This record gives sequence, structure tokens and C-alpha cells, in this order.
Amino acid sequence: MSERVPARAGVLVAGAGEAGVRVATTLRELGYDRPIVLCGDEPHQPYQRPPLSKAFLDGKAVRADLALRTPEFFRDAGIEVRPGQRVTDVEVDDSGSGTATCEGGDTVEFDRLVLATGARPRPLPVDGGGLDGVCVLRGVDDAERLRDRLATAGRVVIVGGGYIGLEVAALASARGLATTVVEREDRLLSRVSAAPLSEFLAERHREWGVEFELAADVRELVGDGHRVHDVRLADGRLLPADLVLVGIGAVPETTLAEKLGLDVRRGIVVDAGCRTSHPGVWAVGDCTVRAHPHLPGELIGVESVQNANDQARAAAAALAGAEPPRPPVPWFWSDQRDLKLQIAGISSGYDRHVVRGTSPGADLTVLYYRGGELIAAESVNRPADFLAVKRALGKGKTIAPEPAADPATPLKELITDRA
Ligand code: ADP
Repeated sequence: MSERVPARAGVLVAGAGEAGVRVATTLRELGYDRPIVLCGDEPHQPYQRPPLSKAFLDGKAVRADLALRTPEFFRDAGIEVRPGQRVTDVEVDDSGSGTATCEGGDTVEFDRLVLATGARPRPLPVDGGGLDGVCVLRGVDDAERLRDRLATAGRVVIVGGGYIGLEVAALASARGLATTVVEREDRLLSRVSAAPLSEFLAERHREWGVEFELAADVRELVGDGHRVHDVRLADGRLLPADLVLVGIGAVPETTLAEKLGLDVRRGIVVDAGCRTSHPGVWAVGDCTVRAHPHLPGELIGVESVQNANDQARAAAAALAGAEPPRPPVPWFWSDQRDLKLQIAGISSGYDRHVVRGTSPGADLTVLYYRGGELIAAESVNRPADFLAVKRALGKGKTIAPEPAADPATPLKELITDRA
């Protein structure tokens, strides 16, 4: 047990990822002057996650390149960062003040609590998940393990055809590794994207040599008792693999929220200002769910850096008694070799989509509509389309679907008021 003197924080942030750090830095930008303590469970200074499946995995960035802020920045800003200090227990009174206990026994008293506990990889519910050679990709240590494995692997099987799976497939195939993606649904990215985008990406990946097993279930990861050597599918076939990456989504980390008795429905339920069901506790980032913008009564989680930052700004404004920021347009990106995928808005719940593109196989935009109004778009290598949609959504405007189908007309010229 350390000898640390118990601190009293104005705000304690549990979780030192992008969202947690942004709460702390925004509070300072807004003039908040009480002590801020940021406890992170990983034994590292706060770092950026998007490069983990991109430049870091490819060896083009090292750990030092990932730092979100320098230790000097935090010191000068009066933000006490405690890496390797997972908050294991917390008690909060009706006003929101309370005491947190960290792994190792340190305690922190606080006036306000922000949960920024993130999400963990969804485990694959089959035997063999613990075999050597089976990897996930969430934290920097995961990414380093995967990077080292990729350097010696011959046959890679990726379970999950989502963003992580496709980014890693792009990289593994570029290295000349035999790469197979096993996806449970009958197409890639089916949860959020329309079929034209799924097919576009599958086509390009196939050209790169990636093989797909769609509508396929993994029955077992097979090994010799120590190392993985095959993935057994539900139809009995064996896919040889010396490296298996499981990328089947993430599960919000809600242990503390549940201990506090907060409203948790898959994630911690928050409002637009990131308030939880307890008036003195806020939650931000991947651990949260909130009202769906188009489907009343439904809750969604939005896993992205943009969402982490924007929720953090909203929470910090509320904590500092400042004006809430304007609700932002959700956006996200994914890099897969020469493909830059950019997404604006939330497409789930769409009832119509419109496709535009100029050079088959090289670029594509899918615009999503609900009740005749634009709600989202996904672009590959068409950044002007992405920017136009982001701007339209940000201004509460729309883009008429029929003319949008003509790729020669710039979308920015089609932005109009909603009906
Ligand atoms: P990630 O951030 O891990 O890429 P996504 O939600 O973008 O998460 O994608 C996860 C993908 O994994 C989805 O396409 C989903 O259909 C797929 N998936 C989920 N469970 C399984 C499973 N057991 N086997 C194969 N694919 C799965």
C-alpha cells in the first residue's frame, strides 16, 4: 500500500482515456480552479487510441507519439494524473460528494464524480479464447502484442468484420499475410451501414487478397493446449491460423455505475449534458448510452473520439456552471490502406439510402435518410461529400436525395432547409 496522503478533489474523473482527459482539460479551460484528480486503470500516461489499429500497429508510430498530453502539461494545469489506479469502489451521497477507493487502497474524496470508464473488448463466447496467439485490440498493450505477433504470423484469422477487423485486415494483407475475416452477419458493417458500402469494402479487401467468411459462426478456437492453430466454424470447417484477432465490438465498463445504483442499460444512461440518473454523477465516452436521435425510446452508444470529446465538453460545462456547448454532429473515420472512410451523423434507423460515386471501386458516398430528411452519410475517398453532409447536419439542414445521386453535382450546392 502506498503512503499517499488522501486527497480531496473538486472533481474526480474515473478513467484516463480520451473522454476523461478532455473533461479535466476543459474544466481548466473554463476556469475551474479546484483540484482535479484523474485515475486511470492502465499503468501508462493517457494516450490516443485511434492510431493503435493504424500507425502504431504498422510500426509507423511509437508509444511516445501517442501521448494525449505531456506530464508537464498536466502538472502545469494542476491535473493530478494517477496511472495504474483503477477505482474499485466508490460511495456518493445525495449531493454528489463521496469517497473513491483505488486498487492498492488509496482513497480520494471528491465533490463531484465523472465516470469515464470506457469499454472492454466483447469476449468471443467459445472455447479456446485463452490460447496463445489469440489477441484483442483495445489498449496500447494489446496493440503492442498484436504488432509483435503480426511480425511473425503467417495465417491471420480476424473474427468480426467491423472497423477494427477491417483496419487490421488491411494491414495484415499489405504485409502479405494470408488473412481471413469471419463475420457473423451476411455482410460487413451491417449494424450501421447499407449494403453498397459493405460490398464496396469487401470488394477492395478481396483485391488485396483478404478472404471473407460471411454469415459464419465461430464454434471453437483450436490449439495444441498452448498455441492456437485453427478456427473451427459452425459448419465444421477449420481455418488454419497462428494469429486470431477477435474484434467483435466492445462492452461498456459499468461496474462502478452499477455499484452506485445508476441507471445502466447496456451502458450508463446519460442525458445531453452527460448527467447520469444521480444528480451529482456524470458519465462520458464509451461507457455511456443516450437517447437515439431518430428513434424515440431507443438508446445508443457512440464509440468515437469525437463523441468522447464532445460529451466531455458538455460534462465539463455543466460541472463548471458554464453554457452547454451546441450539440455536435457525430463523426468518425477509418483508414484502410488507400481508403479513407468518413462518417457523419448516425445512420441507424434509416429508411432510404442514396449512393453516389465517380470512379467505381475508388470512391463512394452513401447518404442516409429517415422520413425524407438527411440523417447521415458515409464516404470513401470523397472528403468534400463528408464535409458537406457534416455542415448540413450541423445547421439542421438537409440535402435532397434525387439530385444527390448525381456525383457531378457538389453536395454543398444541394444543402437546403428541411421541409
Ligand atoms: P469493433 O470496434 O470491434 O470493430 P464493430 O461493432 O464495428 O466493433 O464490429 C464488430 C463486428 O463483429 C460486427 O460486424 C458484428 O456483426 C461482428 N460480430 C459480432 N459477434 C460476432 C461473432 N461472434 N462472430 C463473428 N462476428 C461477430
